[in-house]
Amino acid sequence: MHGRTHESRMLADPDAALAADAWRMRDLAVLWHPCTQMREHPDVLPLVPVARGEGAWLVGQDGRRYLDGISSWWTNLHGHAEPRIAEAIARQARSLEQVILAGFSHAPAVELAERLLAVAPRQPGREPLAKVFYADNGSAGVEVALKMAFHWFRNRGEPQRTRFVALENGYHGETLGALAVGDIPLYRRTYAPLLAEALFAPSPDAWLAAPGETPAQRALRAADALADLFDRHPGEICAVIVEPRLQCAGGMRMHDPVYLRRVRELCDANGAFLVADEIATGFGRTGTLFAFEQAGVMPDLMCVSKGLTGGFLPLAAVLATQAIYDGFLDDSRERAFLHSHSYTGNPLACAAALASLDIFESDGVLERNRATAARMARLAAPLASLPHVAEVRQAGMVVAFELTRDGQRDVPFDPALRIGLRAYRAALERGVLLRPLGDVLYWMPPYCVDEAQLQLLAEATGEAIEEATACA
Ligand code: PMP
Repeated sequence: MHGRTHESRMLADPDAALAADAWRMRDLAVLWHPCTQMREHPDVLPLVPVARGEGAWLVGQDGRRYLDGISSWWTNLHGHAEPRIAEAIARQARSLEQVILAGFSHAPAVELAERLLAVAPRQPGREPLAKVFYADNGSAGVEVALKMAFHWFRNRGEPQRTRFVALENGYHGETLGALAVGDIPLYRRTYAPLLAEALFAPSPDAWLAAPGETPAQRALRAADALADLFDRHPGEICAVIVEPRLQCAGGMRMHDPVYLRRVRELCDANGAFLVADEIATGFGRTGTLFAFEQAGVMPDLMCVSKGLTGGFLPLAAVLATQAIYDGFLDDSRERAFLHSHSYTGNPLACAAALASLDIFESDGVLERNRATAARMARLAAPLASLPHVAEVRQAGMVVAFELTRDGQRDVPFDPALRIGLRAYRAALERGVLLRPLGDVLYWMPPYCVDEAQLQLLAEATGEAIEEATACA
């Protein structure tokens, strides 16, 4: 395993290294990268041209290999360039690549909707999710769900129900509607004048538990605050949106599922919809196919994307109850749901999603993940004793390391130190792609990750933490 780390540090081929440098210049001449202060390229922030993907590996143009510790922004499930998904897309491309979904239909869209509804979270005594509306990325899926909730009440003659409740520290994407229900300070500060005013409820995040408080107690206290919010805004709230079990962009913060049960009750008691944003948590990330299952309750609207296609193509789906769907049936065009992205239900993306669902079944992915998650727990445990690691937490296939200055909860690092960026560079040098969220490092590898790769991940993470925090 040491050999593997060493191998990734070497340049396989000096000519290829030169070619990769030329590529970097060509890139920076024309590309504007997401989530990046472009001024930092390439000196502060390395730019890695990737030639191909192979299972859990990304292979650079210079021959270096990088273990994809974050599944390429949480999208990849079964490994890069997974041949069965690649083949399904190729097959579909040869017969129908795209067709308007208004007035027309196609087999992959229908089959995928049937299969998603069959595996969606259920709750005894409730009508299951019954209809699927497609969108083309996670943020668009969130926009669809929010618009549906609002429009449903408008159709019903309750136009005063215009408010959304979202959780503090939540994230739902970066289009304006999705940003309005997000609470990542940088985005909120920057775009505040453009954003619809949502109501924010305290996060159930277990990290925020008071001394002596259990995660479940913390979650119930947050739910009490949500109950107060409902009381203060009677008849105004059309939906509550949550990232179940795991606030991802907010630093991989985890909460007890009891919170979701209480939110379900509160939404029912107050006549509001419950929207599950399973865009990052869906398809096995937190151990179950959907995180909501761990609470034994179901949402009224559920957004999925990212891993939906196994990480191959952008696609989102919003699953809705029959009651929501029925609220749009009328003689009037105005009462029909108004949302029409060109690529709605793209056949290639649906074919990829179907192939990914097949792999879940044929490879027993959820069961295999249980063993992989146990390995991750075992390898992560020793890192908890590093001086600046305040907490190691896990939800299924996600492990997070919270770094603080004092190694406890009380003294965070000065953000100016950019501990996360230091750790990112240190891990990259060791052939591992980690992309910390602030001072939180995390593992969210493709599900095909093996023991040796996990050992490399753990070794590189430990060294990256030590190197990054050495400045403190
Ligand atoms: N919701 C959640 C919970 C997410 O993690 C993300 C993406 N990080 C989104 C929504 C937005 O998805 P996309 O980036 O595809 O727009």
